[in-house]
Amino acid sequence: MENLPSLSQTGRADGRSVEQELTQIFAVTPGLLCIAGLDGYFKRLNPAFGLTLGYSDEALLSQPFINFVHPDDRTATLAELHCLARSKATRDFENRYRAQDGSYRWLLWTALSNPQEGLIYASAQDITERKQAEQALKQERDFSQAILNTVGVLVMVLTPQGRIVSFNRACEAMAGVSLEVVKGRFAWDLLPVPAEAMALQAAFDHLAQGQILPSWESHWESPGETHRLIVWSNTLLTQADGTVEYVIATGIDITERRADQQRLEQQNRQGQLLTELSRKIRQSLELSEILQTTVSEVQTLLGCDRVFILQAQADRTGKTVAEAFVQADFSLLQPGRQLFSFPPSYLDYHRLRSISVAPTPSELPAPTLLNAISVQSELVVSIITHGRFWGLLVAHQCTQPRQWHSIEVNLMQQLADQIGVAIDQAELLNNLEGLVTERTLKLTQINTQLQQEIGERHQTELALRESEQKFAGILDIAEEAIISVDQNQQIQLFNQGAERIFGYQAAEVIGQSLDILLPSSSRQVHRQHVHQFAASGTVSRRMAERSSQVSGRRKNGEEFPAKASISRLQTKTGNLFTVIIEDITIREQAEAALRRSEEQLRLTTNALPVLISYVDTRHRYRFNNRAYETWFGRPYTQMQGLHLSSVLGAATYRSVLPYLEQALAGQTVTFETAFPHQDGNSHWVSVSYIPDVQAGMVKGCFGLTSDISDRKATEQLKDEFVSVVSHELRTPLTSVHGSLKLLATGQLGTLADEGKALLEIAIKNTERLTRLINHVLDLERIESGQVTMVQECCQVTDLIDNAVQAIQPMARAHDITFQIQAEPMALWVDPDHIAQTLINLLSNAVKFSPPGSVVRVRTVDRGEQVRFQIEDRGRGIPSDKLETIFERFQQVDASDSRERGGTGLGLAICREIVQRHGGRIWVTSHHGEGSQFCFTLPKDADPNSHGLSGS
Ligand code: ADP
Repeated sequence: MENLPSLSQTGRADGRSVEQELTQIFAVTPGLLCIAGLDGYFKRLNPAFGLTLGYSDEALLSQPFINFVHPDDRTATLAELHCLARSKATRDFENRYRAQDGSYRWLLWTALSNPQEGLIYASAQDITERKQAEQALKQERDFSQAILNTVGVLVMVLTPQGRIVSFNRACEAMAGVSLEVVKGRFAWDLLPVPAEAMALQAAFDHLAQGQILPSWESHWESPGETHRLIVWSNTLLTQADGTVEYVIATGIDITERRADQQRLEQQNRQGQLLTELSRKIRQSLELSEILQTTVSEVQTLLGCDRVFILQAQADRTGKTVAEAFVQADFSLLQPGRQLFSFPPSYLDYHRLRSISVAPTPSELPAPTLLNAISVQSELVVSIITHGRFWGLLVAHQCTQPRQWHSIEVNLMQQLADQIGVAIDQAELLNNLEGLVTERTLKLTQINTQLQQEIGERHQTELALRESEQKFAGILDIAEEAIISVDQNQQIQLFNQGAERIFGYQAAEVIGQSLDILLPSSSRQVHRQHVHQFAASGTVSRRMAERSSQVSGRRKNGEEFPAKASISRLQTKTGNLFTVIIEDITIREQAEAALRRSEEQLRLTTNALPVLISYVDTRHRYRFNNRAYETWFGRPYTQMQGLHLSSVLGAATYRSVLPYLEQALAGQTVTFETAFPHQDGNSHWVSVSYIPDVQAGMVKGCFGLTSDISDRKATEQLKDEFVSVVSHELRTPLTSVHGSLKLLATGQLGTLADEGKALLEIAIKNTERLTRLINHVLDLERIESGQVTMVQECCQVTDLIDNAVQAIQPMARAHDITFQIQAEPMALWVDPDHIAQTLINLLSNAVKFSPPGSVVRVRTVDRGEQVRFQIEDRGRGIPSDKLETIFERFQQVDASDSRERGGTGLGLAICREIVQRHGGRIWVTSHHGEGSQFCFTLPKDADPNSHGLSGS
């Protein structure tokens, strides 16, 4: 304490020690007083220090005072001391001092310094309580703020004048503006709807005048969204004197809720409308009224620009039958607008889809049409009655595109259903009326009959006329002439058909006698007919019951044949006859022409010495000429409709059957066979079947059969001659061949080279001659029936393999390979002869194929038959030779016998063998591209039943 200034040094006049005064002041001052040194130590403290902090003075004076300062406040405290050292006064400096109990006390300092003395004079106020209160308040404020910002509601604090003081986060988020931006602005400045802004401003004006502030609803602009609808309720914060200090407004976003509410209301209204309409429909039977009510109500309810009903017409257009619109130019029925009906496509479109919601014009069915009546969006539903399409209920939005809600679509659909019911009902009513009318009419008629009065007679006549007129429309469609005459033969009705046929206009003949329509020659006869018919007591006869041919007379005097029928109707005024006349001139002409051409054909065909027939697809004769009579000995006219087998006999029928089937499949065929003749013999014939193809279908075939037995007889003579010669030749030829071979061995002496060459040629020619003779004899033996086919069960594959094996050396020599595709099947045939056939066909194929090529052998299962196919890639056969090469000595080229060692008899032998098995042989070929020889064999062939033994 030695450093402490001595107060006595300051001197006091009253002699009281300054020290004493200071001690007293220190003692009584409730606040904290101290003198500290710039060295950082307290020098002197009043008792309040010790009391406040709980330390003894010694404890406080013994260490630098900074040690008692809260670590967080030390820097600021040292800075403040620094200022004091430079004789700056301290005011309201706050820091915390640690009390002895470890707590901190907030102190508020005021201090002065005397740098010369190195001293600081300071007073401090303990503000710990105030600080704590402040802290609590701040916490509370932060807490409330946090709550305000986290609750979903919108909270605004406004002045009583309506200016924004505070705006919570929810408000910021919804309005898309921050508190800074809106602070101080009037709440109504944020409202986009002017009417709402004005109302809010007025409410605040009323508040200023002491009236209550009601809750209010207003829209707020929300970024990126449409307006949100908010309902605001408010609380007033008032001062003690009752004046309003703040308005706390809390808002809830009710946009969705309100929309739902509105939708619900609308649905309710729609439900009501539907009920109302259904009730009206049930009560009212006036269809047009119902339709009109519907369109008007729908138009109001949906708030669309045009609603109308389209009725589908017989010509497949639609007719507008009811319509409602917001403004006259949207009307489809507007005077001057030509659009009364829609094109068929429009109706077709909706026939397929019961509902169409088209939000954009491009998706609409007929854009041009809809553009013409300015449609941006449309909603269309079908009206169905009795399960049939009746028409459409259509709503249009013309001013802007519109998305239709499903409830709107539903409503339309339900209304369309109700309309359907209404239409059904109206139809029922009409029918009912019709029924009543009918009954009434019947009653009237009965009544009329009973009374038999002249006046009523007249009335009935009129009614009849009327109904005649009604029927005239229908009658006019008829092709025939329909003419009614009364009992005096005066014409009462003359339809358009009659006008066409007779050349008179109805007006010219009505009331005239029927005679003008008849040739004079038949007038009398006709009159008699009518009288007889009138007297016959038959009330009416259908056209078919009495048909007779008559003649008519046209206006130009021309007479024509006609078919007529007559019926009678008993009326009050007497009999009314209706004659239906059909002009049969053209038909008769055509028939006559046909008859003529048929006769000509008959005459011609009958004159020919060949058998001419027409056979249908069921193998029955449809036509035979007279030659059949001569041939088969029975009237040719009786053959029509008979089956071929009953005319030709079963065996002959079987032999022609494969060819007939071929013709009925569309191919022209010619073949030779034997027909039994009435003279008891079989005659050789050449038969051609020519298919009758009409519109791509074979209807039957024409058959031409000519007797070739004379030619055959000559051939046979020739054959016999050849055979005799052959037999005579064969023995010497064999010995010549043997001698030549012997010579060639050189055993009888060597020959010069020239001699050897000549010998070679001689051997080759003898061999060919031998082959020829063998073939001639073979053929002759088979044809004459000397050879029987010895049938046994054979495997198709074996037959082919054996034949191929036999021909293999020759094939190798020609560099030909075989490709075999045979199905394993059993056949009942003569294996040697079938092998002979196969070998001959294969050797031909090899002979005529180019070296290195392939010969294909194939079998095809044709059900009851097997088809063999031998196909080569050789030179082919010209189309005019396809048939003839199966004849004897027929070769495509004369050199074939010389160069290829052929005889021209192989195919003839093959044909004999195949035919003897009941099969058929033929060739198809594209000249230059190879040939395909085919033959068929029946699986259960009976080789010896196909012989031509009788020829
Ligand atoms: P040839 O002994 O002359 O072969 P064919 O009766 O077997 O006697 O044959 C008659 C004629 O048919 C042959 O000369 C030939 O002109 C022609 N021919 C037969 N098969 C074929 C074939 N595969 N390719 C071309 N022509 C053929």
